[in-house]
Amino acid sequence: MSTQFDVAVIGLGAMGSATVAHLAARGVRVIGLEAAFPAHAQGSSHGDSRLIRLGYFEDPSYVPLLQRAYENWRAMEQRLREQVLTITGVLQIGRPEDKIVKGTQASAELHGLASEVFDREAMLRRFPAFALDEDEIAVLDPEGGFLRPEAAIFGYLRLAAADGAVLHFGEKVTAIEPGDGGVEIVTDTARYRVGKVVVSTGSWIPELVPQLRGLAVPIRVVVAWYQPRDGFATALGRMPAFIRDEGETGSFFGFPVIGPDGVKVGKHAHFREEIDPNRPNPPVNDADVAVLDDFITRRLPAAAGLRVRAITCRYTMLPSEDFLMDILPSDPRIVVASPCSGHGFKFTSVVGEILADLALEGGTQLPIEAFSFAAMDRFMKARQGK
Ligand SMILES: Cc1cc2nc3c(=O)[nH]c(=O)nc-3n(C[C@H](O)[C@H](O)[C@H](O)COP(=O)(O)OP(=O)(O)OC[C@H]3O[C@@H](n4cnc5c(N)ncnc54)[C@H](O)[C@@H]3O)c2cc1C
Repeated sequence: MSTQFDVAVIGLGAMGSATVAHLAARGVRVIGLEAAFPAHAQGSSHGDSRLIRLGYFEDPSYVPLLQRAYENWRAMEQRLREQVLTITGVLQIGRPEDKIVKGTQASAELHGLASEVFDREAMLRRFPAFALDEDEIAVLDPEGGFLRPEAAIFGYLRLAAADGAVLHFGEKVTAIEPGDGGVEIVTDTARYRVGKVVVSTGSWIPELVPQLRGLAVPIRVVVAWYQPRDGFATALGRMPAFIRDEGETGSFFGFPVIGPDGVKVGKHAHFREEIDPNRPNPPVNDADVAVLDDFITRRLPAAAGLRVRAITCRYTMLPSEDFLMDILPSDPRIVVASPCSGHGFKFTSVVGEILADLALEGGTQLPIEAFSFAAMDRFMKARQGK
């Protein structure tokens, strides 16, 4: 016998927790099913902090979604009576022609966003934690800051439960079986009959959405925390969060002192090392920390004290390094979400709204055309030169 719900949300990480909360707030009978435990260390949503910024260098078309994400984060905090988002400003550092610097300025210009440019001397006076080369500048996005991922996920789950969502942890979905009278969700312990399904299983998504095999690829990322040498320059309130373009080497990101472990830094996509989602992430090794130690010594000397912690995390990369949020072309009852490619967390609050819209209305007013299966197909064809 299967239990009945209007919607099942599979995977209660960042995207799933926001989605169950948005669905439950609309009065829907919803069940959330999580194979492990929310924000666990083999997923993509742990590690104290995630950047949020408005002047999006990746593409200005993300900005309207970000504006909605900010509104939704603030609404969520108000209901929770807890702070999840902290504004510190985000510095985008590099040479004026680098993608991160140029892209941030283009986004800010197009959308009329506030931004401020600092050269090396001005940076030393205003933000002394950072060492810039002569030819580098920093663009400050004053709306930028960081989110607390664990607080966000558990906050959304608390709101979902308060609105009547049923939440099961430690229950893995093994199959989705579409039928005439609904969709059967089969787990390792039970069966559920539901009207609609949202699949938000992060790095495991190809297991339940075979169309994404070879397209949604999990990679390993390492971040580390350093006790700063200079507690003034690196303090929250004094040092903004940042991303830094290092040209062909890639880009790095980091945060001021948020907690007892100090300043956190990471390299975007790290070594792009593909992993098996069903095996524990390979442990942190000497090469992993060497790249971060080198960065912090050269670029953030004020923070380059004792390295106290280093952990692994996962990105789920799509070919375009954008997101996928769409209804499955072969079954309108199944919504698929892979909003990662290493930059999805800040959108969580709007992704929850979008996925709830897709499940309940079959569409959304929010601009997500670029994140469809069709857009992914077009990208693949263009890449293959077809
Ligand atoms: C080191 C690092 C730094 C990052 N920095 C930023 C940043 O600064 N800003 C930003 O915006 N983004 C950032 N990101 C990206 C962001 O964190 C991710 O986009 C986001 O966390 C992805 O969330 P998710 O819900 O898709 O995946 P997850 O949070 O991993 O959730 C997926 C969940 O599905 C569950 N699951 C899997 N299979 C099943 C199944 N069969 N049945 C039931 N449950 C299942 C898993 O157990 C897991 O809990 C970063 C990521 C990493 C790793």
